[in-house]
Amino acid sequence: MAYQSWAEELKQNFDETVSWRRYLHEHPEPSFEEKETAKFIEEKLKSFGVDEIRTNVGNGYGIVGTIKGGQPGPTVALRADFDALRVKEAADVPFKSKNEGIMHACGHDGHTASLLSAAKILAQHKDELKGNVVLLHQHAEELLPGGAKSMVEEGALDGVDYVFGIHLGAEQELGKVLYNYSFGSANSDTFTMKVQGKGGHGAAPHDTHDALTIGAQIIAGLQQVVSRLTDPVKPAVLTFAGFNAGGEAYNIIADSAEINGTVRTMHGDIQDMIESKLKSVSSGIAEAFDATLDIDYVRGYPSIQNDAAEVNKLKEKFLTVFGEDEIEEVEGAMGGEDFAYYLKEKPGAFLRVGAKFPEDDAPYPHHHPRFVIHEQSLLRSGEVFLAIVDEYLN
Ligand SMILES: [Zn+2]
Ligand SMILES: [Zn+2]
Repeated sequence: MAYQSWAEELKQNFDETVSWRRYLHEHPEPSFEEKETAKFIEEKLKSFGVDEIRTNVGNGYGIVGTIKGGQPGPTVALRADFDALRVKEAADVPFKSKNEGIMHACGHDGHTASLLSAAKILAQHKDELKGNVVLLHQHAEELLPGGAKSMVEEGALDGVDYVFGIHLGAEQELGKVLYNYSFGSANSDTFTMKVQGKGGHGAAPHDTHDALTIGAQIIAGLQQVVSRLTDPVKPAVLTFAGFNAGGEAYNIIADSAEINGTVRTMHGDIQDMIESKLKSVSSGIAEAFDATLDIDYVRGYPSIQNDAAEVNKLKEKFLTVFGEDEIEEVEGAMGGEDFAYYLKEKPGAFLRVGAKFPEDDAPYPHHHPRFVIHEQSLLRSGEVFLAIVDEYLN
């Protein structure tokens, strides 16, 4: 097993890994605008002697690197996303974002640094590998339509047999490797509706079609879609995130209302049902009160479906290289992740690595201006990447 000596080298390079992460953290770029980040990654891959590097893959700055093993065998792809968010950093760190209003508030700086750290070791030892490693450095995970789907369409998985990804988790125990069978994330859809009524004088409601009260009825009525129409053993979330109507003056009845939100599901039949009810219930209520309704329902990332066989294989491997209390099976969560598109094509799994500060009982969630990760998690995620390669290519 080559793992032990690779992991030792990874540890020796840890300061360098941290310096990459901090550089990326100081220079975050939002989804589809990660030009300098991509340049940084490309330069690093070149310096490691990665055999093939494709840039501008997909609908943005995606990078696909290939490390060709010295002996024949399968090809394993490892993915790290590298986009940041439009969040103004409020975290108290010495390597705070230098790009105003943009922040690595999801840990993608850590994903990138740890995949680079693993890539450096693997490139140095490529002669030992029985097979190839494909490095998927992906742009734009945070913003629809995302980068993954287009990278797949442009051949990022050509010749790949298995695909794996890691997400750091600021709310999970530091260093813990979390795996999950079947559903790992939700089908993540969004919707916007516009209620068009007829505004008028606040003292003459009978001459109007009050868009505000009709909108409120729609929001109230749709609460029953999840609570009464959804099979309780199939998870579903319907969240209203915005409701804008009226407000110009105390005596004006709103002419129109805008409502938006998100729908999260794991099963296709529930997704279909909620989309259809969202449309029929809201237009029914609008029609009943003489308003019209426009609704735009957008299907986002599909849900992640991990392969049980690969998860089992990894679980056994992790038991040999980490402590039994350092790995844990978890339930899926209702977040969205475009890693799902890779798993639609190839078997594999999406894992989480805990990055919580041990003394912090109330960590800030992902996407929060005060979001932080413990950098020791970068070492663990690098180790996970190396363990995966060791399992499949040695
Ligand atoms: Zn995120
Ligand atoms: Zn993320």
